[in-house]
Amino acid sequence: MSGGDFLALAAPGIPRLRPYVPGKPIEELERELGLQGTLKLASNENPLGPSPLGLAAARASLEGVHLYPDDNGFRLKGKLAERLGVAPEQILLGAGSSDVIDMVARTFLAPGRNAVFSRHAFAMYPVYTTAAGAECREAPCLPPDHPEMPYGHDLEAMASRVDGDTRVLFLANPNNPTGTWLERDALHRFLAGLPDHLVVVLDEAYTEYVEEPEFPDGVAWLAEFPNLIVTRTFSKIYGLAGLRVGYGVASRALIETVGRVRAPFNVSVPALAAAEAALEDAAFLQRSRRANREGLARLAAAFDEMGLRHIPSVGNFVTFELPGEAAPVYEALLRKGVIVRPVANYGLPNHLRVTVGTAEENDRFLQALREVLA
Ligand SMILES: *Cc1c(COP(=O)(O)O)cnc(C)c1O
Repeated sequence: MSGGDFLALAAPGIPRLRPYVPGKPIEELERELGLQGTLKLASNENPLGPSPLGLAAARASLEGVHLYPDDNGFRLKGKLAERLGVAPEQILLGAGSSDVIDMVARTFLAPGRNAVFSRHAFAMYPVYTTAAGAECREAPCLPPDHPEMPYGHDLEAMASRVDGDTRVLFLANPNNPTGTWLERDALHRFLAGLPDHLVVVLDEAYTEYVEEPEFPDGVAWLAEFPNLIVTRTFSKIYGLAGLRVGYGVASRALIETVGRVRAPFNVSVPALAAAEAALEDAAFLQRSRRANREGLARLAAAFDEMGLRHIPSVGNFVTFELPGEAAPVYEALLRKGVIVRPVANYGLPNHLRVTVGTAEENDRFLQALREVLA
């Protein structure tokens, strides 16, 4: 073939696909700018490092990596099932929860079908939807001046986008990159009102951080909604992003169906070992939650002081607004060795997202931001 026009040969959704843009890796920035000691607050990783119990278990497991992992993840599923009050058959393990989300998309989406999600939702939803050849139906979100939840999910608008060809509805609670969240009653009413020819992915990647009393636990609704799948991850509060392990929980029938597209041995030996141990690391979770709570308050106060609007967040990140385009501020912060996350690809060109760091990291970021904006 002459020109190598592989896009012409690709499956229906692929030519429309725009790959996910991850946070800039530290090594890349340091190579490009000749910097050292760079601070990365771009990917919502845990600034306290990995769960110490998880790390020790991962290390110990390396002796056994000549063997394939347990394809059924028996021990991890057992522990999760006990903790969540479900059967092990209701759990699907993934190489990160994005693997699970991808499996749902590949199971239910295809040309002629559509997936519904909110504006400013997690960027992987359109990637997986488009890759499956399906249509992305983006619902508007609540307005920036909404009194309770600026940029929050507009559930009525989302419901109105659902039609006979909708097969998946994606909803992150709390949402990334906005940090907004949905209350128990409102979300329950919304789920109860949806038709049953679609699967709802309730993405709870940050749920362990949230301390709001009205914040729902999607797992509690699985018996009531057989078409609901709740996804969670070890990448965020457990500090295991580099190992890639997450899971989905749903009715047995839904897990059995989605599990058909799972690649064998998709979760590695160290990832399984680390996740099992990290689940027991209550002290680490508590420390992480406290550092995050204090960091969120510190960042919010500093943004207020600087006169920068920010979206109230219950995650481990805050998205803040600049007076104009955010790209030059992002670049200037890079030159000061601080990596934050541009969110223009999320439809927020005047905003940046910063991950909550340790107290020193937050101060270093704020100092750099003050200098850049001076
Ligand atoms: C980080 C994140 C995930 C999952 O990441 P994995 O590392 O694949 O588990 C899923 N959803 C949202 C909204 C996230 O921010």
